[in-house]
Amino acid sequence: MAELRAIPKKKKIKLSVGQQIALRKAIFERDHYCCVVCGKKAQHRHHEPPGSNKTDRIETGVALCVECHNIRHNDPNRSLQWKKIIVDYLRNIYADYYKSN
Ligand SMILES: [Zn+2]
Ligand SMILES: [Zn+2]
Repeated sequence: MAELRAIPKKKKIKLSVGQQIALRKAIFERDHYCCVVCGKKAQHRHHEPPGSNKTDRIETGVALCVECHNIRHNDPNRSLQWKKIIVDYLRNIYADYYKSN
């Protein structure tokens, strides 16, 4: 009988729901519930860079409004410009973290 073996998945560190909520709250409080790009009321926690290799931590998360979040993810003309604003913002706060990463 053939041995059925699951393909090993890459281990990803996942936060619990409670940790996700706490992280979201910490990011929103740091950013004063305002979008870090335009200053409007923030609605989303955005991970920079977006994608599958997310590291859930405050150093890679920002608060964004609906519009800026949409631009960052879906607007080919402005996405990179928004990314730069977000990265500059985070680097400015977490210089040590970004020096070693
Ligand atoms: Zn915004
Ligand atoms: Zn996002």
